[in-house]
Amino acid sequence: MTKSALITGITGQDGSYLAEFLLEKEYRVYGLRRRTSIPNYENVVHIKDKIEWIDGDLTDLSSLVRAVQESNPDEVYNLGAQSFVATSWPQPIATGEITAMGVTNILEAVRIIKPEAKFYQASSSEMFGKVQETPQKETTPFWPRSPYGAAKMYGHWITVNYRESFNMYACSGILFNHESPRRGLEFVTRKVTDAAARIKLGLQHELRMGNLDAKRDWGFAGDYVKAMWLMLQQEKPDDFVISTGETHTVEELVQIAFDYVDLDWKEYVVIDKKFVRPAEVDLLLGDCSKAKKELGWELEVGFQDLVEMMVQSDLDKYRGVIK
Ligand code: GDP
Repeated sequence: MTKSALITGITGQDGSYLAEFLLEKEYRVYGLRRRTSIPNYENVVHIKDKIEWIDGDLTDLSSLVRAVQESNPDEVYNLGAQSFVATSWPQPIATGEITAMGVTNILEAVRIIKPEAKFYQASSSEMFGKVQETPQKETTPFWPRSPYGAAKMYGHWITVNYRESFNMYACSGILFNHESPRRGLEFVTRKVTDAAARIKLGLQHELRMGNLDAKRDWGFAGDYVKAMWLMLQQEKPDDFVISTGETHTVEELVQIAFDYVDLDWKEYVVIDKKFVRPAEVDLLLGDCSKAKKELGWELEVGFQDLVEMMVQSDLDKYRGVIK
């Protein structure tokens, strides 16, 4: 029997990988699409015709009720959010409405229309913020350091609460940073790999950066969407940390990207206070042993390969443009 999945945030990095993965498994994939003045299908252009599009918005419960009615999903993946940490300071209320209250909206739509559907919430390692222990695992207390982190923490607990209150199959995946050639250009990995490619090709001459000492546990988004699906295939719903178990500084990221194009990063990187955040998450390092043991989840792409894949993709993109 064909399964149906409803994905919010389907045009984003994770949504596009998840949609590909589910289409390969012969799911009917429904994507919630938010009206924007300029349509953005860049990440899903190759599968656009295979997706059943539903217009809606996480801040509009009525549109979500309709989306659940129309898609009649077996699985719902809530990947939509205001997902960029830095923007959450200048837009804290919109971040709260979308990233926090949006979760209650979609949970309510599922509870009212199809409470037996399985639900995945995209929680985030940013909830650990000022980390209370290292490495961070499912039981580590949260201490968010941004309006984004605070909003994700609400989304996490409301998901747990719907599981406990209504006996819904609702899971929360606490995913550490995950990247790919489809990552938005504002995130540090893609900003760096794009700049390394542009500088190599003479299209850019410097790279302005914030805090190079921050440490992150960066994995490949294509690996991480498999964990989302696995969480919904278990006997019981639960929450899982998904990470690589390695941490690297932003400086190491810059070094690997520039080494790949045979340039010395120190000649191009300029520190600019504009990119330093009001409160920083200094160190993230995840312990995903529970996911490995209980879900059988395995990581395929390591940090260096990930950065090099992203620089190569950006080089290819600009070489295509220059031709
Ligand atoms: P986040 O972990 O979700 O905030 O992911 P980001 O990719 O936006 O940022 C990762 C880390 O890189 C944070 O600690 C930032 O402070 C740091 N960073 C340093 N310079 C920059 C920059 O120029 N842009 C971004 N986005 N992050 C930077």
